[in-house]
Amino acid sequence: MLNTGNNASLAERDLNVLWHPCTQMKDHEGAPPIAIKSGKGVWIEDYDGKRYIDAVSSWWVNIFGHGNSNIADAIGKQAHQLEHVILAGFTHEPIVELSEKLVNLTPKGLSRCFYTDNGSSAVEVSLKMSFHYWLNKNGNNKKHCFINLGNSYHGETLGALAVGDVGLYKDTYGPLLLQPITAPSPDNYLRAEGETAEAFADRQADALEQILEKHAHETCAIIVEPLIQCAGYMRMYSPQYLRRLRALCDRYQVHLIADEIAVGFGRTGTLFACEQADITPDFMCLSKGLTGGFLPLAVTLTSDEVYNAFYDDYDTLKAFLHSHSYSGNPLGCAAALATLKEFETRNAVQNNLALSTYIANKLAPLKDHPNVADIRQTGMVAALELTPDGSRQTEFPWQERRGLKVFKHGLKNQALLRPLGNVIYLMPPYVITESEVDHLVDVITQGIEIAVA
Ligand code: PMP
Repeated sequence: MLNTGNNASLAERDLNVLWHPCTQMKDHEGAPPIAIKSGKGVWIEDYDGKRYIDAVSSWWVNIFGHGNSNIADAIGKQAHQLEHVILAGFTHEPIVELSEKLVNLTPKGLSRCFYTDNGSSAVEVSLKMSFHYWLNKNGNNKKHCFINLGNSYHGETLGALAVGDVGLYKDTYGPLLLQPITAPSPDNYLRAEGETAEAFADRQADALEQILEKHAHETCAIIVEPLIQCAGYMRMYSPQYLRRLRALCDRYQVHLIADEIAVGFGRTGTLFACEQADITPDFMCLSKGLTGGFLPLAVTLTSDEVYNAFYDDYDTLKAFLHSHSYSGNPLGCAAALATLKEFETRNAVQNNLALSTYIANKLAPLKDHPNVADIRQTGMVAALELTPDGSRQTEFPWQERRGLKVFKHGLKNQALLRPLGNVIYLMPPYVITESEVDHLVDVITQGIEIAVA
């Protein structure tokens, strides 16, 4: 293990050769990247010995803590036995076992697992499979459109980017992208004064139905992030929308793609968000927490109905000829199996109920803060929205990035918070303790004062 650097020298070498994700590299002038040496539980430690609580689970992937030794050991053991093998024509025990487990754990009716190695690719697979299903099924090549939701996010590859709706990431590449039909978001922050979450969900589902009446004949699928639009400022919505969505997709013969890449594996309070609406999507995309945050692995689950439409003689071109070199990598599968075991041995979904209530109670006093327009929470994701006067506003209310001030305050005080615009959120590993939550909420409270001053 390399342990010889220090923050400054590693940052300098980094800036000579790296190009960081989702970063304006000029922002690093005067604010070099922080070099992390190690991680344990919710803590990460830099080369100068400074420690930070990873309140965002390192882009929402880590669920049972950094350096989790059960997951690390499982990967090590697997690495000594079989690190990788081509998945076309070959298989291996970890992937068979993992697929059996995922079929059992996900909503009833999802019976087939197709593996990729990152969330965006899992989304691409769902889009291609849906389009190809309609073609295989009825020779229907009129279905070539997708419906997405306002404020949605599904990844960065061109297909996944196209079905997202966050302009910051998407607009530049507009000329390269498929054009989805965008239905209004069920985001509960947008509800009218006095309107309930359910009533607003129904109103937005009615708007979707109008789109379907016009466009269902040319639409392959609707893609949504169930319950929380995470990259879209952690906006949340009622399960009622998902119930309506399932019924509409059935009525209008359009697939439903549930992108649970960020919300799957217990984030929303249930193992999968779709459970809260008691629905089964036609495709479910999973990644991030799947390996406990250790290795890149993703899976798209679908039904026998979809699978069977591809099952034919080779020369009919009905097969799904999509692959990635690292599809179903055995190390990733071993990490995923160890992660699922952690859910069982820790009774994690149940324990998170108490933890999420604790977080809610800690954040509650901030409701009265004059700059807090909204505090929202679904399971282990809690967010608060800052506005200049505490009223619910939707346009970027400030020129300056106030969240950035909270971020900087956090770094000085042992907290890795990574606000989205003016939305501060907690999406920590499930191993966080109450006193660590206390610390984060203290830092956020002080950070808000600095940010709004
Ligand atoms: N879908 C959702 C809902 C996501 O939050 C993300 C990643 N933030 C993706 C897809 C893309 O996953 P990846 O970054 O692994 O490509």
